[in-house]
Amino acid sequence: MTGAPHLDVAVIGGGVAGLAAAHRVLELAPSAEVRVFEAGPRPGGWLQTERTDEGYVIDRGPDSILTEKPAAMRLAERLGLAAEVVATEPGAHGAYIVHDGRLERVPEGFSVLAPSDPIALARSPLLTVRGRLRAAADLVLPRGRGVSKGHLPPDQSLAAFVRRRFGGEVLDRLAQPLAGGIYGADPERLSLAATMPRFLALEATHRSVTIGLMRRVRAARARAASGARYHLFASFRRGIGALPEAVAAALGERVRLGASVATLAEGRSGYRLGLASGETIAARRVIVAVPAPRAAALVERLDATLAGHLRAIRYGSAAVVTLAYAREAVPHPLDAYGFVVPAIEGRLVLASTWSSVKWPGRAPAGKVLLRVFLGGATRPEVPRLGDAQLLAAARRELRALMGVEAPPGLVRVDRFLDAMPHYHVGHLDRVEAIEDRASAMAGLSLAGNAYRGVGIPDAVASGERAADEVLRDG
Ligand SMILES: Cc1cc2nc3c(=O)[nH]c(=O)nc-3n(C[C@H](O)[C@H](O)[C@H](O)COP(=O)(O)OP(=O)(O)OC[C@H]3O[C@@H](n4cnc5c(N)ncnc54)[C@H](O)[C@@H]3O)c2cc1C
Repeated sequence: MTGAPHLDVAVIGGGVAGLAAAHRVLELAPSAEVRVFEAGPRPGGWLQTERTDEGYVIDRGPDSILTEKPAAMRLAERLGLAAEVVATEPGAHGAYIVHDGRLERVPEGFSVLAPSDPIALARSPLLTVRGRLRAAADLVLPRGRGVSKGHLPPDQSLAAFVRRRFGGEVLDRLAQPLAGGIYGADPERLSLAATMPRFLALEATHRSVTIGLMRRVRAARARAASGARYHLFASFRRGIGALPEAVAAALGERVRLGASVATLAEGRSGYRLGLASGETIAARRVIVAVPAPRAAALVERLDATLAGHLRAIRYGSAAVVTLAYAREAVPHPLDAYGFVVPAIEGRLVLASTWSSVKWPGRAPAGKVLLRVFLGGATRPEVPRLGDAQLLAAARRELRALMGVEAPPGLVRVDRFLDAMPHYHVGHLDRVEAIEDRASAMAGLSLAGNAYRGVGIPDAVASGERAADEVLRDG
């Protein structure tokens, strides 16, 4: 052991979950000795924004925060970022979906798995007449077997749920690409209870998911009219990276970069971290805020069963090609936030976000910034292609779908390998087993988006929860 101080709390992983955890520790115990050990060269994990001299603000990973889940926005407010918050641009709205090689509007009111406006769905060219009638059957179908007001059935896949309530066409043409855009995973395997339990709750409460959603939308509109604090999605003037940058600035030298933790073992009073550099750190409590496979490797010697459960959580990959063009080089009206692509269209592109249409201040005047997502559950090999191949694929897709012929003025290629946890059917049981085992280890807690929510607000909430837990452990 070196003469290093005995830390009160060591946080392993400086993604948004780990940063939020350390910040919370200091809010609750300002004199605590806390350090974040981050393997990479900068804090924030997948959250990263590049700002160029020409005036582009490029989110190189995630770009939006769902405000319905409050943890991330509350953290931003406590960090003094409230004045920096931006909402999605009101001029454009909704998204397109690829249908037989063309961009068609996602029907008004369609919410990931289900319609809140059955008339708009019935008018949509995305479905055949038969498909529309089958979708409308949700209005009259009874609740599924085992679903009742006070009781939810065993876990089921997202695909099974949509097929049962709305039929195969809604699944293939709408739900699969829209859910794929969020989870990057196969809906046949995704757990409904772990990803979007609200739809199951709608069926349990209202019988028809469509009717339930219509009521929910009406209530949400009333709330918005009475002055909701934020729009549904938010970001920051300087990009999503503003959030981890602000937390890291508040933590100061407590964040150690380039500090990869290689081993974790029990110590005399707490834990002993072995850094890849050979340094040893003693800490009374530890928050493990790294992806599940890395967490598995770290806890293997402490609890092999826990490590086994962690390793069973699968991850998916994607690549993102970001391109900038002069506005006149893009013949499309750009009157939406982007488009998504059904797997049955058989394309390399999964989705595209029109960043400078979606958010204010992302491109200089007269330019547009477009992001193209490639890969997905059915094309796992794509994110591992070379830069030139990914760029060529992105340009080919934009030419075919949006008529963009000109070469881009700016290009960025980013890979997100094994980046997205897939919550497969049974995920919540696995998480309960993980939490049971972890809670048996005094002063150790897990955080991150592998467990109870894949987005930024979930990761922040998990970090804050982990901080509460380890401090409660005494
Ligand atoms: C392409 C993409 C787009 C996304 N878009 C959105 C979006 O728009 N909105 C949204 O809400 N969510 C989005 N997400 C999800 C969001 O990025 C995650 O919820 C969030 O980044 C998870 O944070 P985390 O701290 O749990 O994990 P991570 O960001 O993975 O952070 C873990 C950190 O631990 C470090 N680490 C790993 N091993 C060690 C070790 N042994 N020692 C020390 N450090 C280690 C890593 O370097 C990393 O920095 C997106 C994800 C991807 C990949």
